[in-house]
Amino acid sequence: MRNDIMGVLFDNLTLAEAVDAGERLAAGPGFAYVVTPNPEIVNLARQREDYRQVLNGAGLVLPDGIGVIHAAKILGTPLQERVPGIDFASGLLTRLAQTGGRLFLLGAKPGVADQAADNLRKTYPGLTVCGTHHGYFQEDGPVVEAIRQAQADVVFVCLGAPKQEVWMAQHGPATGAHLMVGLGGVLDVYAGHVKRAPAAWQKLGLEWCYRLLHQPSRIGRMAKLPGFLVAAAGEKRKRGKP
Ligand code: UDP
Repeated sequence: MRNDIMGVLFDNLTLAEAVDAGERLAAGPGFAYVVTPNPEIVNLARQREDYRQVLNGAGLVLPDGIGVIHAAKILGTPLQERVPGIDFASGLLTRLAQTGGRLFLLGAKPGVADQAADNLRKTYPGLTVCGTHHGYFQEDGPVVEAIRQAQADVVFVCLGAPKQEVWMAQHGPATGAHLMVGLGGVLDVYAGHVKRAPAAWQKLGLEWCYRLLHQPSRIGRMAKLPGFLVAAAGEKRKRGKP
């Protein structure tokens, strides 16, 4: 059962349940992709029907931002907990290191994915990173082929939204991978170029505030958050009417 939050259908799972589901998809015979929408992404999906369909076509739709959790509460369809993309990714990495699944890292500026791969191999002994590619390519074909040649099971696709979600839906099946996960700026964090908020900030739901302090240029993107919650309240009133 998925919870409809402003048109995006979120899986109501704990982080542990989401990682279990991700592991199953990665080991399965088919292809699926995972999206981790924050309020900004949900807002975009409200404006673009094609993008909303891409999000709702995902094998897993996980609530990355605290704003989504607040909106879910306002709408009267609460979600169990926030499932940050990076926590989901880290849970999956632990499983891949145990099972021998092959990981490909796609995205960020040249050199970042390689640095992230080096760091991840140290943090998760036994992890097979079978290839990397930066995220500033002009043609899709060679990237699809690189993933195919690497025989990747799982691909972390870090191209920013909405590019990464559209890319996974369009090109994922041709790569032969079983699972793709859209993870925004996560490779910059794994490479050590961007620091994640301390655990206490995360617990308080203030990760967005920490990021804003360290990357003030995000202010324009974040200023839309209050409007998102007001829109959720409006939606709740509409849904309440017969
Ligand atoms: N990026 C990329 N190709 C592009 C545009 C962006 O690889 O054409 C990368 C960018 O270098 C960064 C990530 O995508 O590593 C997006 O990070 P952002 O902080 O915007 O994502 P968020 O975590 O907020 O979703």
